[in-house]
Amino acid sequence: MSRSFDVVVIGAGPAGYVAAIRAAQHGKSVACIDEWKNKDGKNAFGGTCLNAGCIPSKAMLESSELLHRAKHEFKKHGIKTGEVELDLTAMQKRRASIVRQLTGGIAGLFKANKIEGLVGHGKLLAGKQVEFTPVDGDVEVIAAKNVILASGSSPIELGIAPFDDDRIVDSWGALEFDAVPQRLGVVGAGVIGLELGSVWARLGSEVTVLEAMDDFLFMADRDIAKIAAKDFRQQGLDIKLGAKVSAAKVGKNGVEVSYDDSNGDQSIEVDKLVVAVGRRPHTDNLFADDAGIQLDERGFIVVDEECRTRVKGVYAVGDCVRGPMLAHKGSEEGVMAADLIAGETAEVNYDVIPSVVYTAPEIAWVGKTEAEVKASGVAYKTGSFPFAASGRAKAMEQTTGMAKIISSAEDDEILGVHIVGPMAGELIAEAVLALEFSASTEDIQRTIHAHPSLAEAIHEASLAVDNRALNYPNK
Ligand code: FAD
Ligand code: NAD
Repeated sequence: MSRSFDVVVIGAGPAGYVAAIRAAQHGKSVACIDEWKNKDGKNAFGGTCLNAGCIPSKAMLESSELLHRAKHEFKKHGIKTGEVELDLTAMQKRRASIVRQLTGGIAGLFKANKIEGLVGHGKLLAGKQVEFTPVDGDVEVIAAKNVILASGSSPIELGIAPFDDDRIVDSWGALEFDAVPQRLGVVGAGVIGLELGSVWARLGSEVTVLEAMDDFLFMADRDIAKIAAKDFRQQGLDIKLGAKVSAAKVGKNGVEVSYDDSNGDQSIEVDKLVVAVGRRPHTDNLFADDAGIQLDERGFIVVDEECRTRVKGVYAVGDCVRGPMLAHKGSEEGVMAADLIAGETAEVNYDVIPSVVYTAPEIAWVGKTEAEVKASGVAYKTGSFPFAASGRAKAMEQTTGMAKIISSAEDDEILGVHIVGPMAGELIAEAVLALEFSASTEDIQRTIHAHPSLAEAIHEASLAVDNRALNYPNK
């Protein structure tokens, strides 16, 4: 007799595994199917985020930043060291060990929540049946009352620069280099290009980033992007904007990359080329033709605001559906889908999703940029505060950047918060809460912030909106 579950989740990335846990917390019987295989040939739960994305990239960002600081900042603090050297093998071992601990943790969470973690391929058939093909063993058809598709995304490959897993690699390949490339090329100055470009630049590569757009970090607030671009260039990242890559030829000595920009036809030779030009929804062999699932013109599974597909009882969440490709967005959608299955009211506030770029300085924002507010026709005020005037940032020797707040001129409601500077990714949590509660800048002005702390920059920026900053001259 075939097995049946209240909920079958396909995909155990941050969208799928969280959905499975939440459904189990509602007392549902749950199976979660995942086929992820790491480069060592071992299967692991956790999807892109834990195995090849958020977590390993943050491990390498932290390690490389520490190396950079030991080499360049310790002296300023009055700390003398002997020669500081990179041990890339040990650094990569640490990254792999963090990934192993966290992915193993998901297997543990599945057990604790009595979720059946199934290793292999899942495919939705008509009538909410799921075909499960295990890595070893016989194909099984599982009956489900509800199905959650959480199949994630894959890197976009450029026809002119196909991945060869050696010279031309995607972000996963670039996380696992076993030697520091002397010359590293990166196509795309998006989040991955900047994070991984920063890692290898700090570890010693000469990094050239080729970005097709004329604007740097077009999705960020212009004031923030300007400060970040200047700082990254000072750190040695050679960011070329308006650079359209036309060819990448792999030769004996590396990759010759041709592009054109405002100066005409150009070319560079690099030892490794990372292509980071975005990701596409991954839906290969995910559902049968008669399963009733529809894809939009860009390949995303069509869902409504509540992540329901066209088939009753079938949901889709995470990178395989519209919206920003972020782990926390996928997880919240997973929670929403599980809550709806349990008959509860649930929603995701798509207007209040924080974005963080984990470079140094970090970049983080939530809500609208000043350009978006201006375009919407709403009258607004802004206030900002530079970290150069923050006692805590000075003590940390990390004074680049600022916090900026935009609020409605009419009722003072906060419309957007933008930060470039130390710990921006942590500081943004206060702003997310403020937007979620429709707070005004006055609410933040009257909230006591510990001294000395980086969070005081948000407090001062909120005061600056009304020309009341205390520790920096007002406009
Ligand atoms: P995924 O994590 O891609 O998981 C999908 C899972 O489903 C995979 O394990 C896949 O093998 C499995 N699967 C797919 N189809 C099937 C099938 N038919 N049968 C069985 N299993 C299947 N986001 C952030 O928010 N913060 C960050 O700092 C961040 N850093 C990143 C760094 C890098 C280098 C990359 C590449 C991405 C990063 N992201 C980050 C994005 C983040 O990884 C994704 O948004 C997130 O992983 C999406 O979660 P998901 O569960 O939708 O999909
Ligand atoms: P992205 O969309 O952030 O950036 C891609 C960049 O490549 C864009 O700036 C684009 O203009 C440029 N580009 C596209 N085609 C090009 C071409 N032919 N030549 C030159 N430039 C080109 O995509 P990504 O950096 O690949 O990241 C993929 C996804 O992963 C993103 O959606 C991102 O949200 C997510 N991610 C998030 C984090 C984080 O939250 N910290 C970190 C890494 C990745």
